Amino acid sequence: MNYRCAHRWAFPKWGGELIEHSDDLAAPAGREVTVRVTHCGMCHSDLHVQAGGFDMGGGKLSSLERAGTKLPVTMGHEIGGEVVELGPDVKDVKLGDKVIVYPWLGCGECMVCERGDDHLCPRASRNLGIQLPGGYADLVRVPHERYLVPIGKLEPARAATFACAGITAFGAIRKLDPLDAEDHVAIIGCGGVGMTAVALYSATASARIIAIDPDPAKREAALAHGATMAFDPNEAGAAKTIGKACGFNIAGAVDFVGSESSSSLAVNLVRRTGQVIIVGLFGGEFRMPLPMFALKSLRISGSYVAGLHELRDLVALAQRATLPQIPLDLRPLAGVNQALDDLTKGRVVGRVVLQP
Ligand SMILES: [Zn+2]
Ligand SMILES: [Zn+2]
Repeated sequence: MNYRCAHRWAFPKWGGELIEHSDDLAAPAGREVTVRVTHCGMCHSDLHVQAGGFDMGGGKLSSLERAGTKLPVTMGHEIGGEVVELGPDVKDVKLGDKVIVYPWLGCGECMVCERGDDHLCPRASRNLGIQLPGGYADLVRVPHERYLVPIGKLEPARAATFACAGITAFGAIRKLDPLDAEDHVAIIGCGGVGMTAVALYSATASARIIAIDPDPAKREAALAHGATMAFDPNEAGAAKTIGKACGFNIAGAVDFVGSESSSSLAVNLVRRTGQVIIVGLFGGEFRMPLPMFALKSLRISGSYVAGLHELRDLVALAQRATLPQIPLDLRPLAGVNQALDDLTKGRVVGRVVLQP
């Protein structure tokens, strides 16, 4: 295989289909590394990237183009593979290492990046699969070896999904207060990320999990992965039904949808002093009567992916504990457009993982 020519599936215009093309790669410099992609997970946020931005509510859209993202865009930020080429200054990884790639790169130089919170870098976003070419390709160039995490004996398809679904779920549930076994946590939205959160939370904490999703297949899967009860949010009077079933004792709600209706359900569900954590990027506006903050002593926060150090922690956790496994849907990379379409239409249970 020629490691200086990448075959990438990219969209040449916003909202357009992905087309395969080849790009020449220069020799890796400094501490750059080339990874041969064996697996790349597909994320719901790819649909927003492909569309060119996020729904900010009130008819407003954020624009990746105005924020400096250049076409064509090669998406794919859950990258797993094998190290095949090293820059001259690489010290800590070697050819043949099986790795996953941390894709949420910042400037790489500031204090925030240095402590491993590259995803919160105040200076720059250089995410693989958005600003830099991602894993819908046979080869990926990684700007620094420190973004590679060795997976040891972990199953590579599953480990690849840790880079977004895994750490997004992990980073969000880590923000929850320690809770008792009688407490309840609501997980709203049981797609790939929400389902991972159900599995990780049930493996690492004792509070009861309430899974909330309109799709019966996803509710079923959530119950199989550690949820104690599951509800359809679209049923009339859902908030009341759910509250009653939990003795109105829901300590935290993690919203993996991030829509107007899911965020308002989250706020309604939690008890006084409850925590609401908004993770999903579906979009819209958040509206709430202001007195609710005080009357309920509410705490509302957001959670965006997680740091490089959290990816390392998650890999270590997966290596020492058997985590309940969310379903994977392995497909060839050449079927990427069909897979995106299936994801748009909600026809995917668990996580799609593409293979070049
Ligand atoms: Zn993602
Ligand atoms: Zn930085």
